[in-house]
Amino acid sequence: MMLNSIRSRLTAWHVALLGAILILFSVLLYFFLSKRLHEGIDNSLMVSASVVRKTALLEYSRNPLPGLEFFFDQFLGYSNLNKFYRIYDGSGNVGSRSQGMDASQFPLTQAAYMRALKGLETYETFMVSENDPLRVITLPVIREDTLINLVQVGTSLVGVNETLKNLRFFLFATIPGVLVLSTLVGRFMARRALQPVAKITQAARQIASGADLSRRIPVPEVQDEIGYLAATFNEMMARLEKSFTQMRQFSSDASHELRTPLTVLKGQSELILRKQREPGEYQEVLSSNLEEINYMSRILDDLFILSKSDEAQVPLEYSQVDLKLIVEEVCKHLEILADEKNIKIIMAYLEIVSLKGDAHRLRQMVSTLLHNSIKYTQENGEIKVTLQDMGEYAYFTIADNGIGIPESDLPLIFNRFYRVDKARSREEGGSGLGLCICKHIVDLHHGKIEVESRLKEGTKFKIRLPKTALQNESNG
Ligand code: ADP
Repeated sequence: MMLNSIRSRLTAWHVALLGAILILFSVLLYFFLSKRLHEGIDNSLMVSASVVRKTALLEYSRNPLPGLEFFFDQFLGYSNLNKFYRIYDGSGNVGSRSQGMDASQFPLTQAAYMRALKGLETYETFMVSENDPLRVITLPVIREDTLINLVQVGTSLVGVNETLKNLRFFLFATIPGVLVLSTLVGRFMARRALQPVAKITQAARQIASGADLSRRIPVPEVQDEIGYLAATFNEMMARLEKSFTQMRQFSSDASHELRTPLTVLKGQSELILRKQREPGEYQEVLSSNLEEINYMSRILDDLFILSKSDEAQVPLEYSQVDLKLIVEEVCKHLEILADEKNIKIIMAYLEIVSLKGDAHRLRQMVSTLLHNSIKYTQENGEIKVTLQDMGEYAYFTIADNGIGIPESDLPLIFNRFYRVDKARSREEGGSGLGLCICKHIVDLHHGKIEVESRLKEGTKFKIRLPKTALQNESNG
């Protein structure tokens, strides 16, 4: 039989085990019961023989001892159970005996006589007829070290054999029945227990064939192994769905964002090539095209970082970072840009803070935020930067008095490609990915980024970064 289903294997194991236990139990039961019954017979023979011996010690007679017949019949109920007694003299000649027995069928054996001479009793079994075994005890009667009598008491073993036969019949009849019943019950139970697995398989097949990743498996109410499997499967599906959605989003965002500069590139190139132009015109178009190309390559860089973040693959290089130094350097670096708009960068309060993190990413974060502040602040504006050591974490803020962000847009500005004013952002060379990347960097450092803003008043970003980032977790 091919056991190619868990249900069949479970049932087979269960039935095989039960069968083995039942057989072992039956053999032991039969063995002990048989032993006990035979011991019982032997004990009763010994009691009866001892009674006869006592009488024989008192008196020796060739005739049935008076009173013994009565004792066997009335007290032990011998006659109807085919029991008898015999008394031999010391030489082994039959003396007194109960009536109605054919003595020749079970003579006094040599072995029993030899043992009797040594004062030992002997138990023997004789086959009177085919199905009529007889158990006989031979007990010596010794007076003054001389064997004067031998007492034999016998009884039929038919009753014992009948009991054992009935037991055998019962066991042979019931064990197969129990096994058949247990196979049926086992199969039923296994089917019931594995029903959720069948459901899971069916649902998984439907998902695979229909490619509908939003489908989920019904989780059984009982949180057992199957429930756990279903929940894990659903979690896996959720992750897969999220990944696919992100991938789709990613490609649609990327193509959307790249289409505009490509259209510009194509249009300008086609236009300039229509006829012969002055070298100055070519130069102008080429430098405009270069701007578009730079813009595209920036977007591609940003998208690359984000795609890595989605896969939790951003390789962070942890070291002890002097955040104050980074802030100072970035401010200095972007001062030229700020000067163009006559914006003042004020390092209002900078404390020395050293933390475990990725210096390159942290620099990218500070730079993006400061760059944004410069982009979205009018001429003659002001940007204030602070850095504080708060014990467990570093607290960094950057506040400008620029155009601000409408309240309704605040929850969305960390989303990828989200821009409050698309035209303005594009004009400033923004890809709409900067804040999204900042948030990823802060998340990777197990920190927190918050924004406060009022339209036409200004914007303030507040970042908390734990000083000891859990680098194993984020790298893993
Ligand atoms: P972008 O490349 O467009 O700047 P970001 O992800 O860096 O993209 O920012 C998303 C949007 O959030 C910006 O388009 C802008 O509208 C808004 N924003 C970001 N920083 C500021 C700021 N300091 N002041 C006002 N608006 C801001």
